[in-house]
Amino acid sequence: MSNSVRSEVIKALKDQKEIFGDELFISGLFQEKIMTEKINIKKIKDGPELFSDAKENWETSQNLEDLDKLICNCTKCDLHKGRNKFVFGVGNPKADVLLIGEGPGAEEDKQGEPFVGRAGKLLNDILKAINFTREEVYIANVVKCRPPGNRTPLPEDMELCMPYLIKQIELIKPKLILCLGLVAAGALLKKKDSLGKMRGKIFEFNNVKVMVTYHPAALLRNPNFKRDCWEDVKAFRKLYEDVR
Ligand code: URA
Repeated sequence: MSNSVRSEVIKALKDQKEIFGDELFISGLFQEKIMTEKINIKKIKDGPELFSDAKENWETSQNLEDLDKLICNCTKCDLHKGRNKFVFGVGNPKADVLLIGEGPGAEEDKQGEPFVGRAGKLLNDILKAINFTREEVYIANVVKCRPPGNRTPLPEDMELCMPYLIKQIELIKPKLILCLGLVAAGALLKKKDSLGKMRGKIFEFNNVKVMVTYHPAALLRNPNFKRDCWEDVKAFRKLYEDVR
């Protein structure tokens, strides 16, 4: 179909959508699925593929600064309601190494920077132990706003926030990613495996190699995990030497 015909078709369908509402474009099969599997209607509110080509402003950002400016007032999920500061990410915008945590805690929410509390201090030590500085890597979270009471972000919070992280990855173009904890690993790799199963393996996300280790907060709660974490980060450093 030529581009002009396609735009005409999209325009006509959009008009119809305006007149008849979203439901017109939800196929019978899909409606049945909604009824039986309680699929979140929000996900399909924007209609089928044809309508998903309208990009949001932030999606075309050419650098992290612009992206931050365009998303920092986000209200897509409920986490924004308790937000003091939006925690975009920190570090070298051209870093070879990206670390991904779960979401801001109280201190991060106060300062607007990831991993600045107790877990952050431990993370800095871990980085130092494998010859990285905080400044040369990039650190970001799955969700950019603090979940109330530091609870695990809800699946819908993560689903709405993940596109921002994916855009960050696209702009930073890291060679390696280290997921800190099961929440980050699950959100990025879409896996339901245990952390024990994922540790020590090399995964890929959009052609970037990914490894998984414990979240520093888990190490604070259970120092017995430190030995395994040390093995993980040594393997991560080795992989970095191999790919750089
Ligand atoms: N825990 C996280 O997962 N991220 C932070 O930024 C701080 C604590």
